[in-house]
Amino acid sequence: MSVKGMADILPEESWKWEKIRSLFLENARRFGYKLIETPIVEHADLFIRGIGDGTDIVDKQMYLFNDKKGKHLALRPEGTASAVRSFVEHKYNSELLHKWCYFGPMYRYERPQKGRMRQFHQAGIEAFGVDDPALDAEQIILARELLVGSFGIESVKILLNSIGCPACRPGWQVALVDYFRRYDRELCDNCRRRLDINPLRILDCKVQRCSEIAKDAPAGRNYLCGSCSAHHNKLKQYLSDMNIVFEDDPMLVRGLDYYTKTVFEITTDKLGSQSALIAGGRYNDLVKSLGGKDSPATGWAMGIERIFLLSDIKHASEKTVYFIALDEPSKIVLFKLFASAAKRRNCRFDYKGGSLKSQLRRANGAGAQICAIMGENERISDTLLIKDMKNKTQKLIKIDEFGETL
Ligand SMILES: [Zn+2]
Ligand SMILES: [Zn+2]
Repeated sequence: MSVKGMADILPEESWKWEKIRSLFLENARRFGYKLIETPIVEHADLFIRGIGDGTDIVDKQMYLFNDKKGKHLALRPEGTASAVRSFVEHKYNSELLHKWCYFGPMYRYERPQKGRMRQFHQAGIEAFGVDDPALDAEQIILARELLVGSFGIESVKILLNSIGCPACRPGWQVALVDYFRRYDRELCDNCRRRLDINPLRILDCKVQRCSEIAKDAPAGRNYLCGSCSAHHNKLKQYLSDMNIVFEDDPMLVRGLDYYTKTVFEITTDKLGSQSALIAGGRYNDLVKSLGGKDSPATGWAMGIERIFLLSDIKHASEKTVYFIALDEPSKIVLFKLFASAAKRRNCRFDYKGGSLKSQLRRANGAGAQICAIMGENERISDTLLIKDMKNKTQKLIKIDEFGETL
C-alpha cells in the first residue's frame, strides 16, 4: 500500500498530468514567466520564518525530520518560500523585474479528501521587483485564462481583497483583537492562541463558531493607508477595464502570513463546497524578511489535483501503427522496419506472436489505427499488408513505399 494521502499517477492518466503541466508552462511563458526548479527538501526554518508561526501549515501540517547530522529539514509545503530563498541566495537584482514559475509536488499532513492529498502538486508563478497593481492584474488575468481558456473550467469566481501593509495593518489588528476578545470563551483553542500571534488568521478559521463570529469582525478595508487603498482601487480598475468579473470580499485572508496588500482566490463550486483552484497575492516584505534586499513581489499557486478532477482536456492521440509478423523469418524483417519507424512515430510491435486473429485483437486493444502485417507471401515479394482498422480496408504495398504510406 502507498503511504496515506500519497497517490500514484498511473500510466493511463499520466498523459493528463503532462498536458496540464505543458498548458501551464506554455501560458506562463507567453507572459514571460520562466521555470525554476527548487529542491523538495529545505531547511525547516525557511518555512517557519517565511510562512509564519500560528499558521496551520507551520503548526500542524509540515513533514519535519532530522538528517544524519541532525539538521532540521522539511518537505516543502508550498512553493513561494523556496522561490524567495533561491532569489535571495543567487543575488538576483531586486531593481529589475523577474518572473518565475514552478510546477511540482508539495507536502502537507492534512486529512486526505477529494482533491486534497498529503503529497499534492502545485503550479505557481512569482514576480519580483515591481510593486505595480497592473502586475497583480496581469497575474489574475493569466490565472483566469488558464482555468477557463486552457482547462475549460467554467463558472469560476474571483475573490479579491487587500490586507494592507505593515504601516496600516496594525490598526486593523488592534481592532480585530478588541473585537475577538469579546468572544474569548467561544473561540477555538487555535484561535485563542492566534489572538496573540496573528488575529488575521482567525478570519480564516474553518471551525464553525469561529467563522460565525468572524462574519461581523471589523473589515480591513476601513484601516488601509493611502498607498494600500490606491493600489487596491487601481487593481480593481485594471480588471474592470478587461471586463473581468470579481467580487471584492473584505473578509478574504490567506492561510499564510507573508501577504501584503492584494490577496485573491479563484474558486469553483464544482467540487461540492466552494473551493479554491488558484490563490495568491502580493508579498512585498518576504524577500527582505528572508535575508534579501527589499524587493516587492507577487504570485499565486494552483492546486493541480483539483484541476485534474475538473479539467475537460482531451487526449489528442497520435496514430498508432501496429506491427504483426506471422512467422519467425518475417519477424526479423518486420522488426527492422518497426525499429526505424518508431524513431519518428507511434509504433507497437507484437512480441507475443501467434495467429493473425489474436494479434489483430491485441492491435485493437492497443488502440492501433493501422496494422502492418507480414507473413511468408509478403516477405517473399518484399511487400506488406497494410490494414486500416477503422475503415476495415486493406492494401498490399511495396516495403520501400512503407514510409510514404504512413
Ligand atoms: Zn498600507
Ligand atoms: Zn478557530
